[in-house]
Amino acid sequence: MKKAIYPGSFDPMTYGHLDIIKRAAKIFDELTIGVLDNRAKTPLFSVEERVKILSEACKDIPNVKVESFSGLLIDYAREKNFHVSIRGLRAITDFEYELQIAQTNRLLSGGDLDTIFLTTSLEYSYLSSTGVKEIASFGGDLSKCCPEFIADLVYKKYNVKNPKFRREGN
Ligand code: ADP
Repeated sequence: MKKAIYPGSFDPMTYGHLDIIKRAAKIFDELTIGVLDNRAKTPLFSVEERVKILSEACKDIPNVKVESFSGLLIDYAREKNFHVSIRGLRAITDFEYELQIAQTNRLLSGGDLDTIFLTTSLEYSYLSSTGVKEIASFGGDLSKCCPEFIADLVYKKYNVKNPKFRREGN
């Protein structure tokens, strides 16, 4: 059975992440989304909230599982027997950072963990969790960024009462 892990912060999940998840789930028999519990960062959503959001968003994709992990990806991968990590590439700006992580993981794992990159679908190439948070904090329209239930949760975090979620014509 071919399985892979898609690790990330997913704070919060966007349509860009969902697109990578759906495409990776078609390539692998089983895809585990590994939600990083990074105590050094202060995320908008707790790791439990992020796992719940991803589980809801992926509930109709049967071969996708959602788990959280902390520490180094290579340690988690070794423990769970993953040999492939999936990452998404949006633009050249992602490349340098992603290449560094991929090479570090390969080196530290003794060649046991490889990274496979999926390039973004063009309509999502501009999307980032940071952008979603920025837009939400000003009550902007998130209808093209993430599913509505996630948008509602993000607005709530920023105490936005009347967001422009669905504009006329959307
Ligand atoms: P990080 O893991 O660096 O904290 P994220 O959780 O936002 O970042 O993203 C996880 C992975 O998904 C990364 O490989 C990132 O490049 C990729 N990704 C994020 N947004 C998109 C997008 N719109 N299209 C394709 N890939 C994306």
